[in-house]
Amino acid sequence: MIAVDRADRAPRVPVVSRPAPVRGRVFVQRDRCKGCELCIEFCPTSVLSRSKDFNARGYHYPIAAAGCINCRLCVTVCPEYAIFSVAAGSRGAAGAAAAANAGGQA
Ligand code: SF4
Ligand code: SF4
Repeated sequence: MIAVDRADRAPRVPVVSRPAPVRGRVFVQRDRCKGCELCIEFCPTSVLSRSKDFNARGYHYPIAAAGCINCRLCVTVCPEYAIFSVAAGSRGAAGAAAAANAGGQA
């Protein structure tokens, strides 16, 4: 077998640059939530967790940490239309924040 000296080779670099990560913001209309935790279960990045507080209906609602990728799975599975997400930095983000009720989480 022939020994290959790799020390003098040029470093390997990717041909295609890595795409920018997708960032989103998730909002919860907490008084609509019925505490089923489907959104928490389906979130692929584990951004959502159960609140310690109760909403007006007596349920624990989801709270969001950083790291949402705007995949909208939580939006799809929520039976109460209580959670929605937007692309971070989009013009819709401000409106979404306003649409979430006073106790909503951004
Ligand atoms: S949009 Fe996707 S990543 Fe963001 S909170 Fe919902 S399920 Fe999680
Ligand atoms: S899926 Fe909807 S109703 Fe269920 S915990 Fe999440 S926000 Fe609340």
